[in-house]
Amino acid sequence: MGIPLSSPDITAREIRAVKEVLKSPALCFGPRLEKFEKLGAAYAGRRYAVAVNSGTSGLHLIVRSLNLSRGDDVITTPYSFIASANCLLFEGVRPVFADIDEETLNLSPNMTESLLQKNKKVKAILPVDVFGHPADWDAFYDLSDRYKLKLIEDSCEAIGAEYVSPEGVKKKRWRKKKMAGSFGAASVFAFYPNKQITTGEGGLVLTDSKRIYMLCRSMRNQGRDGAGRINGHLRLGYNYRLSDINCALGIVQLQRIGSILNKRQRVAQCYNRHLETISGVEPLSALPNVKRSWFVYVVKLAKQFTRKDRDRIMRKLEARGIACSTYFIPIHLQPYYRKTFGYKRGDFPVSESVSDRSIALPFYSNLRKMDINYITDSIKKVLDG
Ligand SMILES: *Cc1c(COP(=O)(O)O)cnc(C)c1O
Repeated sequence: MGIPLSSPDITAREIRAVKEVLKSPALCFGPRLEKFEKLGAAYAGRRYAVAVNSGTSGLHLIVRSLNLSRGDDVITTPYSFIASANCLLFEGVRPVFADIDEETLNLSPNMTESLLQKNKKVKAILPVDVFGHPADWDAFYDLSDRYKLKLIEDSCEAIGAEYVSPEGVKKKRWRKKKMAGSFGAASVFAFYPNKQITTGEGGLVLTDSKRIYMLCRSMRNQGRDGAGRINGHLRLGYNYRLSDINCALGIVQLQRIGSILNKRQRVAQCYNRHLETISGVEPLSALPNVKRSWFVYVVKLAKQFTRKDRDRIMRKLEARGIACSTYFIPIHLQPYYRKTFGYKRGDFPVSESVSDRSIALPFYSNLRKMDINYITDSIKKVLDG
């Protein structure tokens, strides 16, 4: 048995909560749905939350709610999970990629602005809080004001992360916001089992807009009216519902999130300490005005390493029973995007260079110290060998 890449933090409390739902008559649209949404909205400092069956579904509903459609462009990052661009394709909206900031790995506001200056079809920006590091929200609010754009926040990897406007930034309407998921006209958390907390499958759309809230509630339930009653389908909708079984799991996970995030931070700090002594690998860093919520533990190899070196190192770690993964292969280099849009290597050099040298190591709240020792020792041996 090797060390897995991720592993959910499930206790007897979660198991009990799920069992209780199974013994109740309300497997769907029961009291847990509402409670999960209330807790999620409060946690993110949002007025409304709509639980859905995945983060991807949540992103899709936001794109629909904002009336984005064929002929519109949206600027987003190529350095992300494919869903953050696919949600646009579902509606015929064109994702226009801007490269990332090398330090935060997030969508670069400067690159975004240079696209905005020449593209009049852009209707929205979709930054991703990558690896639990919030995007540069001050800059994106500023761009959204100046260019009259909507903001969609993909905070699927960032539940619990915090962003405070840096000193010297003028006090503006977003200054009071802090939590990842509170930025953007709407935002999404995701709860696949590799995320910080899980519902098995699931997502949560967060917004302060009653209009977006009502639309998302309706569209997740086949376009019925907001209350979910059966008097007619008002608009095109989907089955993006989340069952009370998933919600029961999510409620306990949200109640325990402080302790789960602390454990993840301690694991990350332990990794950091070990890796400090190994030259050639660089842990993730965070800006001083940001509190990262640890989603994955990714290390960057030094600039002299090529993609081939990286792949060879990964194979050697795997041979030692250590699961590892590339994170992310840039979206524009995915076969579907190459084929559909003609992207090629070289189009987004920062994303590609980071991607080529990155390895995600095993990371979860209950990863043991002895495992971290073994993993970091193995990295040292593999790099030396
Ligand atoms: C996990 C994730 C999503 C949503 O994924 P689902 O599997 O649909 O829940 C969206 N965007 C990013 C960046 C993610 O990491």
